[in-house]
Amino acid sequence: MAFLRMIDTGNTMAPLVKFRGWWWLMALVSAVAWARPAVRYHIDIDEPAHHEAQITMLVPPISEQVLELRMASWRTGRYLMLPLANGVMHLVAETSSGRRVPVRRVEKDRWQVEDLRGEPVEIRYRLYANSLGTRTRHIDATHAFLDLSTTLLYAPALRQHPVDIELTVPKGWRSVSGLAAGSGAHEFRAENWDEAADSPIETGLHQSVKFKVGRQSFELIVWGVSNLDINAAARDLAKIAAAQRTYWGEFPFDRFIFMVHATDGARGATEHPNSTVIQRPRWRFGTQEDYFDFLATASHELVHAWNVKAYRPQGLVPYRFNDENYTDLLWFVEGGTSYLDELMLVRAGILTPKQYLKRLSERVEKHLKRPGVRHMSPAESSFIEWIAPKGEQAWNRAVNIYRQGEMLSLWLDLQLQQDSQGKHSIRDVHRKLYQAFPVQNRGYTSEDLKEIFAELGLKNADEIWEKYVEGAHPPPVIDALKRIGVRTRYQDKTKWAIHQSVVAELGLELDPSDPSGTLVKTVTDGTPAWQAGLTAGDRIVALDGIRIHKDNLAKVLRTFKPKQLVELAFFHNDRLQTASIRLQEVPSGRLTLELAESLSAEELKHLALWLGQAPKEPQQ
Ligand SMILES: [Zn+2]
Repeated sequence: MAFLRMIDTGNTMAPLVKFRGWWWLMALVSAVAWARPAVRYHIDIDEPAHHEAQITMLVPPISEQVLELRMASWRTGRYLMLPLANGVMHLVAETSSGRRVPVRRVEKDRWQVEDLRGEPVEIRYRLYANSLGTRTRHIDATHAFLDLSTTLLYAPALRQHPVDIELTVPKGWRSVSGLAAGSGAHEFRAENWDEAADSPIETGLHQSVKFKVGRQSFELIVWGVSNLDINAAARDLAKIAAAQRTYWGEFPFDRFIFMVHATDGARGATEHPNSTVIQRPRWRFGTQEDYFDFLATASHELVHAWNVKAYRPQGLVPYRFNDENYTDLLWFVEGGTSYLDELMLVRAGILTPKQYLKRLSERVEKHLKRPGVRHMSPAESSFIEWIAPKGEQAWNRAVNIYRQGEMLSLWLDLQLQQDSQGKHSIRDVHRKLYQAFPVQNRGYTSEDLKEIFAELGLKNADEIWEKYVEGAHPPPVIDALKRIGVRTRYQDKTKWAIHQSVVAELGLELDPSDPSGTLVKTVTDGTPAWQAGLTAGDRIVALDGIRIHKDNLAKVLRTFKPKQLVELAFFHNDRLQTASIRLQEVPSGRLTLELAESLSAEELKHLALWLGQAPKEPQQ
């Protein structure tokens, strides 16, 4: 239902008077001169402790009587509809002559400002910003992170106009953004709405370190107390950036900002053209594995500066901020980036090939076990990312654009290297996309991507696309790795199973956060637990009369033989049930990828092409 809002917060303060300044006059002059006058925004962080800001938007005169305003319904990098418009409050509009004009909300995220009569108009609203984990907008007493697409209302009719942004912030805060700086310490300018929408501002109290890679300047800023060694991190980020520049030949930006949020739980990261925001629990930077995870995430986001920001699938060009942007290529956007993120740590000399293979092993093993790979293609998974299944359904019936896309990219890379006799790799695919599909001109399609692979030497590209990209068939990554000298074995370090090559399994995963340790999180299709009728949400009770829970399940299972018939007791919807099941036989221990003892010259050549370095000399 449309309704009228005529509430004024009366929040007009000195900085705003200065902000308005000569703008009205300038807007009128540039409109007359046929230039595109800027849309100006003022963000006054006046109630940080309660996550609120007062926002003023100055809109130059338009020929129409009605101005349409929108709040985005999703933000780039996360393909999910979000209730962003619920943070817009007390929206009012007033023309430059002081005439209050009606504002009607006509959809959840769409407003109409009416009766403009060719006058510039000032829009005012309050914004509630308390969504740290979605990396959209978060204001508190120590900082504000503002993804501008989720902070500022925009006028679709003025999308190509320059955007000026000025902030009024608590004393001592510093404001940083990938956007060009304006004349003041808290002022920024964007060429148009799209640039502003993809360039968040981080303002507040931070640790900061600047560094250079070639002539490009980088900055690492950290909000929140943490155990990150910021200087060591800057040195490693410089190595990663240098490795990526070598991979693509040049940087797609002049400066880049790593914004790190050290949080009490939120984690994840979002890419932007020349900045990224990375969130990690504040004490998860200290151990070597945690630190590698952080660097891999930072590397991932930097890869995105090319893969999705410099070149992007057609369905995402330009971004449409109020509906789902469909593409069948998110597996390449996200999985292709995941594939490169840790490879870049090897190329930067941060991970050794051995460390890289160990980390890759875990992901390959999960891929091999996932029943969903035979039910959903990477292309379909990309298309329905907006409604991606979760939990047990996702594991058994779907694939993930990140993990499946990584495995497919790995396999395509090794296959292209083989088919082109070591002449080309996926690096050349990325370089071609970078050259041929600059995002400001056009996006690329799945067909374009296939053609690039084929031109570089991938054989049977049509069949490969049909089977592995558009079909639900897992690519044979183990075979491809074997061809270049990477061997697989199952390694078991647990005491009770050291001499066993196979062990008994049920085929279920328990929820580690459940206090009783009996809650079933996932049951894998085809396993004994699946055949017994167990499903997520059930609670395990006993195996052949012995009580089982997460702390003893593995030990109890190892007292049985694989394929032994046992009785499983469990609760389903609070009803105690029993099922007679035959335990599954699985390899004992974890899958391990490692380099073969002796490598041929051919294998070494491919390994060098893959990892960017020859791991060792050939055996004579
Ligand atoms: Zn990503």
